Amino acid sequence: MEETLCERCKNELFSQANRKLCEKCAEQLFEKVKGFIAENPDNSIKEIAEQTEVEKKYIKKWIREGRLELMTPEAKKEREKALDFQKQFADLKETEQKEAQEPSQEKEKGRFHTRK
Ligand SMILES: [Zn+2]
Repeated sequence: MEETLCERCKNELFSQANRKLCEKCAEQLFEKVKGFIAENPDNSIKEIAEQTEVEKKYIKKWIREGRLELMTPEAKKEREKALDFQKQFADLKETEQKEAQEPSQEKEKGRFHTRK
């Protein structure tokens, strides 16, 4: 198993793919950003990142997760992206389920069927 260390405190992270921060650091940074936004709601993600020294990718992630409420157009875009992704994922799941229910012959036909 690949060993991963927290980007911030260098503590070991256990089997958490796509995560670069330990729980503790993530919470600390989150609180820092949240506090900053409460006082500076109009700052851009870039400005927030610079002022709080928290990487933009984390700020964007929290916005997408709905944990940070930021009203700038940039943040709105991030939220829309997240919603789009969720929608696509839901659509995909639905398609998979439908295909699984259909008999295999029907499935082959369906593949070349164009929607009107
Ligand atoms: Zn850490």
